[in-house]
Amino acid sequence: MILLYGGAARAVDEDGETHDFGQWRMLPVREVDDGLPIIGGELRVPRVLHLQRYDRAPRVAVRLTRRNLMLRDQHQCQYCARRPSLRDLNVDHVIPRSRGGTDSWENLVVSCRSCNLKKGRRTPDEAGMCLLRPPQKPRWSTAAHILLAARESYQEWQPFLKAG
Ligand SMILES: [Zn+2]
Repeated sequence: MILLYGGAARAVDEDGETHDFGQWRMLPVREVDDGLPIIGGELRVPRVLHLQRYDRAPRVAVRLTRRNLMLRDQHQCQYCARRPSLRDLNVDHVIPRSRGGTDSWENLVVSCRSCNLKKGRRTPDEAGMCLLRPPQKPRWSTAAHILLAARESYQEWQPFLKAG
């Protein structure tokens, strides 16, 4: 809003038209919009901004949560590659916590219950198990994917999602 109000950005509507603050404030707040109360009414919250001065893409850190780990690993056991139901999936410490393994993107993977049991408190090497891929902190593209999967996407985002 500050970017829009200050003229650093223009708001993009569902038809791809751009508006400065003065034009944007005249647009109605539709059923599908979020509204921001302002003096004398309500302002439609823009879903896409066109930055007038491009600096860099905002970096969004993806939070380390069970849900986001599931999304990163695509609900697939990282040991046996099976995709059981969600309740049969665990989050596994590659290096067990008892051995100094941390809660981090690099040390947590999705694993099925049976692989989890089989591995126990051992490292993959000790258990003779292999990871499908080395666990990594999600890169930007993955981060965007996770963020988009985490909420319903808006009509205004569609052209950009297809482009990506
Ligand atoms: Zn498994």
